[in-house]
Amino acid sequence: MPSLPGSADPPVPCARCLTRVPRIKWGDLCPDCLAQLKVRATPIARRISIFAALLVIIYAWFQITLTPTSRIWVAAMAIGTYVLVRRIATQIAIEVLRK
Ligand SMILES: [Zn+2]
Repeated sequence: MPSLPGSADPPVPCARCLTRVPRIKWGDLCPDCLAQLKVRATPIARRISIFAALLVIIYAWFQITLTPTSRIWVAAMAIGTYVLVRRIATQIAIEVLRK
């Protein structure tokens, strides 16, 4: 039977530290473990996303004739790549590190 919102579900143990925490699902991590994993995943994701942004800049440097306008677009693309890759890499790093 699906649990109703606001109903008093029994606390479920965290998948990592086995602390019983209310309002998490089976196999999920408690907020403390999730925060620890994010701290460990952030530097990994930062390095990967800087590398991806550099690849965009290197590609533009060698493959595109750079005008002042295209430089702004390349900078915007590099920043966008950094943000997007960082979000994805953080999630993947958390999934990899939790095992
Ligand atoms: Zn935990």
